[in-house]
Amino acid sequence: MSAVSKMNKKRILKDLRKVLGKENVLSHIEDVIVFEQDAFIMRALPDFVVFPTSTEQVQRIAALASAAHVPIVPRGAGTGVSGGAVPITGGIVTSFSKMNRILEIDVKNRCAVVEPGVINIDISRAAKPYGYFYAPDPSSQMVCTIGGNIAENSGGIHGVAYGVTTNHVLGLEVVLPSGEVVELGGKTLDCPGYDLVGAVVGSEGTLGIVTKITLRLLHMREAFATMVVIFNSLEDASQTVADIMARGIMPSSLELMDNMAIRAVEEAYRYGYPMDADAVLLIELEGVREAMERPFNLIKDIALKNSAREIRTASTQEEREYLWKGRKGVFGAVGMIAPNQFTQDGVVPRPKLPEVLRKVVKIGEKYSLKIANVAHAGDGNLHPLIMFDPRKPGELEKVTQAGEEILRLCVEAGGTITGEHGVGIEKREFLKWLFTDVDLGAMKAVKDIFDPKGILNPGKVFETDIDPKELRVSSIGAAGGGGSGDAWV
Ligand SMILES: Cc1cc2nc3c(=O)[nH]c(=O)nc-3n(C[C@H](O)[C@H](O)[C@H](O)COP(=O)(O)OP(=O)(O)OC[C@H]3O[C@@H](n4cnc5c(N)ncnc54)[C@H](O)[C@@H]3O)c2cc1C
Repeated sequence: MSAVSKMNKKRILKDLRKVLGKENVLSHIEDVIVFEQDAFIMRALPDFVVFPTSTEQVQRIAALASAAHVPIVPRGAGTGVSGGAVPITGGIVTSFSKMNRILEIDVKNRCAVVEPGVINIDISRAAKPYGYFYAPDPSSQMVCTIGGNIAENSGGIHGVAYGVTTNHVLGLEVVLPSGEVVELGGKTLDCPGYDLVGAVVGSEGTLGIVTKITLRLLHMREAFATMVVIFNSLEDASQTVADIMARGIMPSSLELMDNMAIRAVEEAYRYGYPMDADAVLLIELEGVREAMERPFNLIKDIALKNSAREIRTASTQEEREYLWKGRKGVFGAVGMIAPNQFTQDGVVPRPKLPEVLRKVVKIGEKYSLKIANVAHAGDGNLHPLIMFDPRKPGELEKVTQAGEEILRLCVEAGGTITGEHGVGIEKREFLKWLFTDVDLGAMKAVKDIFDPKGILNPGKVFETDIDPKELRVSSIGAAGGGGSGDAWV
C-alpha cells in the first residue's frame, strides 16, 4: 500500500471515471473535504470519493486499487465514532449512498435482502406491512447504514434482549480487495464450513467490502409496556439495573440517563423527563399482552426497594415514542451545550455499574470536564459523552486522557474497551490490555489472508507500522484541513 503520487492520481482518476462515470467520482478538494471525517475527533483527506451503484463496479474499483496499491476505505453514513471511515492514508473512499435498495422482503424465510447503503430504520419500515421488524436499532438508526452496522457489529437499545448485529446477519456478499466476490452464508440456517459471516461482521471494513446482506427479520410484538423510573441517586439507578438482571427478568430495553443527559434533552426538546432527578431508567417490556404484568410488577418492586422516587408509565403509543425520542436524542442535545463531544464506549459486568459510574463522575471532576452519562445499562454498556471545545488549547488532550481513564476503569472492573463502536483508530493500542501478542497475531493472520496487500481500510483496528510520512491524519482542533491538503486533481 502506498500514498497516491500526483502522477498516479491523474491515471487513477481517469480509470475511476471510466468505471463509474464522471458524475460518480469526486477529486476536487472542496468536494472530498466533506468526507474527511466521521463522528470521531480525527480527520484526513481522501484522494477520491466514489459512488458505485453495483457489485460489479465495486469489484472494478477494488481491482484497480489493488493494481495501483492504493487504499480503499468503505463508507456508509459517516456516523462511526471510532474513526473507521477516516482515510488516514488517503486513497479511494467508497461511499455506498447509491447502493441503497431493499432488494427483497422474504416473509416465508423471515429475512430481508438489502444493499449496504440502506438506512437502518428503512428495513423495519419496509418490513412493517408484513408484521416484521429488524431488531438492532442504534440510536443513530435514522441515518446510519446497514453496511456500517455490519462493519461495527452495532448494537442499540434492543441489544439486551435480542443481541447485536451479528446475531441477525444470515448471509453476505463480499468483494475482496483483489476484486473477487465471495458469498458467505445465506437464507439457509447453519451453513457448513467456517463461519466467515461471523468473521466479516465487526471487522470494521478491514477484511472485505460488503455489497449485499441477508438479514433476519423478527415478528412484531403484540404489546409494549414502557416505564420511566426516577431516582435521586445515580448509584440507586445503576443498582436497580444490576438487581433486575440478577432476578432473571428480561426487558427488551433497559436504558440509563444521568442528570446531565436529562437536562440536555429537556433543555433541547422538552420530552417531559424530570430535570431535578439524578438519574432515570427507561425500561420497556414487549411480548404477549398477558405475560407482561408479572415482570412489570417485579421491576417496580426492585426499583422501589432501591429508593426509586417515582415510576411513570407511558399510557399511549405517542407517549412511548416521546420517551424514546428523548433517549435517542441525547447525543444531539449535548451538541447544544458544548461545541463538541467525545463519545466513549466501554462495557462493565452489570454488578459493577454503580461503582464504575461513580468513578466516571470523579474523572469528569478531576479534568474539569462535563460528562453526560447514557448507557445501554442492561448490557453494562456505558456511553459517557465528554463535552469540550477543541479550540481551547490543551482541551483535546484532556479529553482523550479522560476517555482512556474511563476505559481503564472498565477493564479493571472485568469489562472491555468497546461494546458497539469498534476499535477504529481510537482504541488500537488498548487492545494490548485485553489480548496477548499471540491472540493479536491470530487476528492479524486473518486480515493477511483476506487482504494480503493491506489496501483495505489500512491503519484500523491494529497498531500500525505505516510510515508516518504517509499518514495524513490530524485532530479536529488542528488548523487547516485534515492532512496533506493534496487532493488537487
Ligand atoms: C448520534 C449517534 C448515536 C449512535 N448510537 C449508536 C448506538 O446506539 N449503537 C451503536 O452500535 N452505534 C451507535 N453509533 C455509532 C454509529 O452510528 C454506528 O457505528 C454505525 O453502525 C455506523 O454506520 P455508518 O453507516 O455511519 O458507517 P460509517 O461511519 O460510514 O462507517 C463505519 C465503518 O464501517 C465501514 N463500512 C461502511 N460500509 C461498509 C461496507 N459496505 N463494507 C465494509 N465496510 C463498511 C467503514 O469503513 C467504517 O470502518 C452512534 C453514532 C452517533 C453519531
